[in-house]
Amino acid sequence: MKISKRAQAVPASATIAVTSRAQQLKAQGVDVVGFGAGAPDFDTPDYIKDAAIEALKAGKTKYTAAAGIIELRAAIADKLRNENGLEYTPDQVIVNIGGKHSVYEAMQAALDPGDEVILPTPYWVTYPQAVKLAGAAPKIVQTDRANSYKITTQQLKEAITEKTAMLVINSPNNPGGFTYTPEELKGIAKVLEGTNVIVLSDEIYEKLIYGDTKFVSFARLGDDAYHRTLTLNGFSKAFSMTGWRLGYTAGPLEVIKAMGRLQSHTTSNPVTFAQYAAIAALGEPAADAIENMRVEFERRGKYMAQRLNRLKGVLCPEPTGAFYCFPDVSSHYGRTINSVKVNGSVDFAKALLEQANVALVPGLPFGCDENVRLSFACSLEQITKGLDRIEKWLKQ
Ligand code: PMP
Repeated sequence: MKISKRAQAVPASATIAVTSRAQQLKAQGVDVVGFGAGAPDFDTPDYIKDAAIEALKAGKTKYTAAAGIIELRAAIADKLRNENGLEYTPDQVIVNIGGKHSVYEAMQAALDPGDEVILPTPYWVTYPQAVKLAGAAPKIVQTDRANSYKITTQQLKEAITEKTAMLVINSPNNPGGFTYTPEELKGIAKVLEGTNVIVLSDEIYEKLIYGDTKFVSFARLGDDAYHRTLTLNGFSKAFSMTGWRLGYTAGPLEVIKAMGRLQSHTTSNPVTFAQYAAIAALGEPAADAIENMRVEFERRGKYMAQRLNRLKGVLCPEPTGAFYCFPDVSSHYGRTINSVKVNGSVDFAKALLEQANVALVPGLPFGCDENVRLSFACSLEQITKGLDRIEKWLKQ
């Protein structure tokens, strides 16, 4: 059967490819240490599950407004006001089917063929595909380890053309594990003043920040920033709700309305009883559940980065956010390990998985072939075991 050119141009997600190979090996009885996960390894807190069960029992099983129930949109608007200092009316908020859907729909609503979207490396794998599916073109800006892989104001100035329609900022960052400081974001906001560039600020990891890292929403940086920003967030990471598929976007009313029209003809509403659980998620007990998870991630991230930095020829900035280490392992490229030539991050990840049974994700699909991504959404015991194996493997 015919496949559209659009669909043919979309590769399968590289993060999923590694995970499925690791699962295949596990199914064969191989003891694989998995650093590929993009989901917290904690269960969804009980108070959220209970709210979903209650909602089901109360018959919340039918269609809702396509953009989500007004109670949830109001709860999200309250959250954005209280936690992020952002004033949005419930009408300026749309609930999407996961943050991934928010990215896709926001780009469908805001981009046209011929538009360019600035994506600093490393970028989350979905961004360039969502840009292309909207008919626009990714403009990849290569960042440097020296600046912790963050785009500089100079790089941004040089990348902007009359075609630039959007800049995607993801802080804390997947896969980089870094977080832009408020000052760095202010610098970016200043460069954008006087342009028509929309900022898609993906804040899905906002709760997972470490040490003295400060998080600020891009739209909070001032009036100009507020009016050009689409604030994107979701429930997957903060509340360990990846399977519930709940994300949201807040921004200028006309864009949110356009997203609502698209949503009404595509997915319709997010799952009804999940929306009620989301209201509960944003309620009282949230702080404790989130903080416990954050503290544990911080401990693991520190340890993983320390261990990685002790490996010969491996350089890893300590993560300040999200749950990823993103070391530069390129000094090992060109080597032959156990008679397999390692020429880049894909070879590195494949050889490590096959030979030492450790699953991680190559940096290439994130735009950084020098690096690999290790998730620390797994136990400290697994991290120790996996790092022991990598250490031994690299010594060969
Ligand atoms: N943005 C980033 C940067 C992510 O890493 C993810 C999840 N991997 C998402 C958005 C989307 O998450 P979800 O669709 O589960 O809400």
